Amino acid sequence: MNCGKLFQTLGLLAFISFQTHAQMLSKQGLLKFQSDFVQTEQQIDSLLADSPKSAPSIELNLQKAQLYMLFQRADLLQPLLSGIQKQVFAQDDAAAQSQWHLLNGIQYYLLGKYAQAQDSFKSSLQLLEVVNRQQKYAYQENFILMYQAVNQVYLQQYEESLNALTDIFKRAENNNWPIIKARTLVFFGEVSYALKNYEQALEYYQNAYNTYPKDAVIYRAESLMYGAQMVNVVGDRNVAFEQLDQAMEVFINQHDDTRLANAYLLKSYFYSKVPDDAKALEWIAKSVAKREELGNPIEIANVYVHYSSQLGIDGQIPLALEYAKKAADLAEQHEDISGQWDSYGNYADLLNQANDYQQAFHYMQLSERALLKKARLDITSQTATLNAEFNLSREQLKNEFLDKQSQLLEERNTLLNEQLVMEQRQQRQQNWVLMVLSLALVFFLIMCGVIYRLYIKNKRLASRDPLTSLHNRRSIIALGEEAIISSDRYQYAVSVLMLDIDSFKAVNDSFGHETGDRVIQYVADICIATLRKPDYVGRVGGEEFLLILPHTDENAALLLAERLCKQVVMADKNSIGQVEQVTVSIGIATKNIHSDQPHNRLPDKDLSQLIRESDAALYVAKEQGRNQVQIYHTDIKLKGHAVDLESTMPDMLRT
Ligand code: GH3
Ligand code: MG
Ligand code: MG
Repeated sequence: MNCGKLFQTLGLLAFISFQTHAQMLSKQGLLKFQSDFVQTEQQIDSLLADSPKSAPSIELNLQKAQLYMLFQRADLLQPLLSGIQKQVFAQDDAAAQSQWHLLNGIQYYLLGKYAQAQDSFKSSLQLLEVVNRQQKYAYQENFILMYQAVNQVYLQQYEESLNALTDIFKRAENNNWPIIKARTLVFFGEVSYALKNYEQALEYYQNAYNTYPKDAVIYRAESLMYGAQMVNVVGDRNVAFEQLDQAMEVFINQHDDTRLANAYLLKSYFYSKVPDDAKALEWIAKSVAKREELGNPIEIANVYVHYSSQLGIDGQIPLALEYAKKAADLAEQHEDISGQWDSYGNYADLLNQANDYQQAFHYMQLSERALLKKARLDITSQTATLNAEFNLSREQLKNEFLDKQSQLLEERNTLLNEQLVMEQRQQRQQNWVLMVLSLALVFFLIMCGVIYRLYIKNKRLASRDPLTSLHNRRSIIALGEEAIISSDRYQYAVSVLMLDIDSFKAVNDSFGHETGDRVIQYVADICIATLRKPDYVGRVGGEEFLLILPHTDENAALLLAERLCKQVVMADKNSIGQVEQVTVSIGIATKNIHSDQPHNRLPDKDLSQLIRESDAALYVAKEQGRNQVQIYHTDIKLKGHAVDLESTMPDMLRT
């Protein structure tokens, strides 16, 4: 037994809260989720009484209509909407008109006029589109779409209905619209219930109960009542009674007569299952009275079916037949196939009991026809439900996939971050290495400079005589040989002078070795001061000096040598202490320029030959009394063999 029509729990409060029309009333606290029906109606009426009779407020009237909707009062709603219709459509307010159509559609829906309801919802949507496309209307749009989808079930458009509701549910979830979300869940519960999947239906109702905001008192009580109906089937009956009583208390407090009538009907049904037929009859009578009072034919037909059946059980056959007949007559007037099947079947049963077989057969046929139609539609409905479930689970899978994907992305991000940190560390290490290498390179270059300078200094030192800083023997010989080669190539004369300090032994003996060294330095200084730029002088023995004079012929060499002798005698002798007299003897040998004619050409002299000749001339100068210059000439005898320039020259020269 279906305690109430599918989704008879419609309300507009969430919708109202998005309406400018509602703002004034909301401020005055007239219409809230926890509003009391009687009190709120009185408040609106007193406000309406204050407004001018000629132009009663459209807003207030729409508010009143919304109140009737919330409390499912189709009986009051119909005259109200007809009354204000002219006024609403006289003004150019598409929002108000959209709202009027929505309310009118719900009114039709409650009265079981589903085709007309569908037209109204369509008009409401079209007018809303006219208003504008602002975000705040997205809520209203989905609200209307939700009613449209619910209504579609009665037009046997199961698939469209379930698909639309699945989409609405998703949007409600994404936009955080708890009222729409919860009401969609209630709807899914109704579908599960219709397909006899009571556990699942219970789950949906509980879910809806938890989804509603806490202050949506009536809605929550309604979910509780529907849940109780499921608990009665699949759970503990005592719990079912408890929850139903809890819901009933709310309906009584809020003056929600429509839902209260539903609750009475449900309570009767619970008792019939106990079974406690007396109580069942008592409560169904209450429901009949309430519904007759409210005057909604489809609701009345529904309650009459159950009432007559209960009367039949109680043995009151004539009264039962009376109500069953009324129910069957009313069922013809509306479009609810389940209701028709129920009504006709019930009446047929009772007629059968009353032995009126002909009538019983007739109504049984009608009932069967409705049943066949219903069965066909149930199959369609089952397919549609499966499809909707598939869509929902696909959505869930998609979400899981997205979760997984975002998790993977996160992991990848972490990895990338770690890689980045590692790369940065590597970069720092590389920078360090580069810096160290650069420093090493700079250090190396500095060291190269130092070493080069040391090398140059060493090289110089290696070629110098430490006492006089003149070229040493090896260096002066090398320079001499270069000069000879050069003179051969460029054809100029070279003179070689061998200079020896006279009686030097006596200096050493008389004044000591140190003074002797100073005398050697003294003579060296005079040589440097007297010589010209291209000339070289080197110390080749103890107190013997070799002078190389490029571009110098015999005469020029003679002049220079004589000047040297004179300088040694004349120069300032402060540096050499008590030594009063220092003289030197010099031997000259010259390599002249070759004659142009080859036959006149003298044989080439090498350095060794020139040294031997100058040495021989020196020997002559010593023999002839010292402190003088002698030029080598062919009459002077050369001593020994050619000089070995590489090794033993000083000794050889000293012989
Ligand atoms: P002569 O006029 O014939 O050349 O007489 P001499 O005394 O100069 O004779 P000789 O050339 O044979 O003597 C050279 C002396 O010079 C021998 C040695 O004691 C001395 N002598 C050699 N080298 C050095 C030196 O580096 N320092 C000093 N103080 N004396 C040296
Ligand atoms: Mg000597
Ligand atoms: Mg000497």
